[in-house]
Amino acid sequence: MPTYRTNAHDGPRNARGPSSYPRGYAEVVMRRTVKPSPQEWRTVPLPRGWVKIRKRILHRDPQCTLRTRCQGAASEEVDHIGDPNDHSDRNLRGVCHTCHAHRTGQQGAAAANARRPSRRRPAPRHPGIT
Ligand SMILES: [Zn+2]
Repeated sequence: MPTYRTNAHDGPRNARGPSSYPRGYAEVVMRRTVKPSPQEWRTVPLPRGWVKIRKRILHRDPQCTLRTRCQGAASEEVDHIGDPNDHSDRNLRGVCHTCHAHRTGQQGAAAANARRPSRRRPAPRHPGIT
C-alpha cells in the first residue's frame, strides 16, 4: 500500500488558494445568476401543444417576418405579435433568432423602464390649492 503525501508541495494546488466562502456557495450564486433555460425569460407559460403550433407557424413563415436585424433569414423562432397570452395563429409569426432577441430585449427594457419611478420633477401644485 503506497503512502500518499498530502502536504502542499505535492500535486496540483488551486492557484487562488482555498475558498474562504462556505462549501457550495459558488453553486448557490450560479443558480441565482444564470438562467438555466430560455423559458425562464417568459412571464407567461407556453400552452399545451406549443411544439405543434410552433412547427405550423415556422412552416407558414419560412423567412423572418421582422427583418429588423436580418435580410430575411430563415425563421427559427416564433414571436407573439401582440398579447403574449394569445397563442392563435394570427398573433404569431416566424422570426430569426437575431431579430427575436433584439425585439425581446427591447420589450424587456420597456417593461423595466415602465416599472422605474419617473425621474421628472413632479408637477407643481397649484398655489391656490392649500
Ligand atoms: Zn430576422
